[in-house]
Amino acid sequence: MIHYFQSQGQKIALDVYSGAVHLLDDLSYALLDELAVLQNEGLFVPQNGIDDATREEAKARVLSSTPAFSAEEAEEALADLATLIAQKRLFTEDPYADLVLNLRERKTYVKALCLNVAHTCNLDCDYCFASQGKYHGERALMTKEVAERAIDFVLNASGPHRQIDIDFFGGEPMLNWSLVKDTVACARAKETETGKQFRFTFTTNGMLLDEEVTAFLNREMHNVVLSLDGRKEVHDRLRHTIDGRGSYDRIVPRFRAFVKERGDKEYYMRGTFTKNNVDFFQDVLHMANLGFYRLSMEPVIGDPNESYMLGPDDLPTLLGEYDKLAAEMIRRNRLARKVTREGGNINDLAPSDHPFVFYHFMMNLEGGPCIHKRIAGCGSGVEYLAVTPQGELYPCHQFVGEDAFIVGNVWEGITKPEVTEPFKACNCYSHPECADCWAKLYCSGGCAANALHASGSLTGTVPFSCTLFRKRMECALAIQADLALSAQEEN
Ligand code: SF4
Ligand code: SF4
Repeated sequence: MIHYFQSQGQKIALDVYSGAVHLLDDLSYALLDELAVLQNEGLFVPQNGIDDATREEAKARVLSSTPAFSAEEAEEALADLATLIAQKRLFTEDPYADLVLNLRERKTYVKALCLNVAHTCNLDCDYCFASQGKYHGERALMTKEVAERAIDFVLNASGPHRQIDIDFFGGEPMLNWSLVKDTVACARAKETETGKQFRFTFTTNGMLLDEEVTAFLNREMHNVVLSLDGRKEVHDRLRHTIDGRGSYDRIVPRFRAFVKERGDKEYYMRGTFTKNNVDFFQDVLHMANLGFYRLSMEPVIGDPNESYMLGPDDLPTLLGEYDKLAAEMIRRNRLARKVTREGGNINDLAPSDHPFVFYHFMMNLEGGPCIHKRIAGCGSGVEYLAVTPQGELYPCHQFVGEDAFIVGNVWEGITKPEVTEPFKACNCYSHPECADCWAKLYCSGGCAANALHASGSLTGTVPFSCTLFRKRMECALAIQADLALSAQEEN
């Protein structure tokens, strides 16, 4: 399967199953387009190259529509495309279908927990999926006993895996700060005796960030996620206190101080865009210009009847925003390379020129996640579980509060394998709509919780989210293509 498209002035082809990415000139792009049409018409079967009849037909079609090219040029370009096909870097067949059966049979281990340490919050965000931290239940804080049992549970359930990921989540986890510190100490103490290693992530709205917290997070947390929606008026409209006061002015100075101390360690500013800021590129830019260079921004998820929810009518604008974002990142990347080439320091660039990372455009064309992960995705319900303050286990934090999805508890472990079983079978091959989707090995079939809540089935899809996801992948590929092209030009 191939996907070819134009983005940021480049003509790009992705060979889905090999992961090869090709930058094409006008003629090769037109020929590839004809080959794809011929394949759809059943007239071309790509195997070890391009058969003579297909070559002649593709050449004739392209030359009749674009007479500017000569027959020799077309033959040369077709020969190059045939070589890529023979090398299994274009029109590659799916080699993974059998692997999926093995995936279902494989023994799985829990190697990541989301600890909902506080089902309560000091903000009252309008779009909160966790109903202001309470997950549609009572306010609650996790006890030390539950947290320690959770650590023991994951140590036992992680089998041969040495690395265990723990996410401190809420509500607002700062509202149970002493438990966070105790849990880190408990886990660290068990590292030596078990030979395992813990990696912690902390997600916060920033309201209670101070020097002591900053120092602890910077020492202990592998990653910190800071919630900020961009421009002050955008952020404050939906992220406010219970008495309606916006949180921007309180958190931004705290985030700046935190990031300054963070150095090279990982963090993300995580934003949400809604109907109120379909021009979300401005919010990403705002955060970058504040000096935050690790950014993430996602469309709001929730009740379609809410006034802030996005809909299909917003798609053209949203897709355009991703294009603007990719163009800005390419501009900043080029500038940074120029500065480096000339012996300068990127950190001397003004925030308005400094390159930044956008989480949803991240793509590793060389290494990337292993194929199991690319097929099966985040591992919710199988390798990753959420723990409530009461010690219940859920497939992930998005299911918390839905009793039918309780899979067990930290004392007894998984007591309802029948609930986890469908998650084990959840991958991009189990979603009928994903079969022909070129992005499936980047998306893995999407988020199971979103699929369930929007379509009623764990293996459903959400067409609106799919359109945005595919656009993000095109932008990511365009950014990678520009990096490769610039490296070539520089050599
Ligand atoms: S800070 Fe997070 S948990 Fe708290 S209300 Fe806002 S979205 Fe919900
Ligand atoms: S983008 Fe949609 S259709 Fe494509 S793999 Fe993901 S969930 Fe499936």
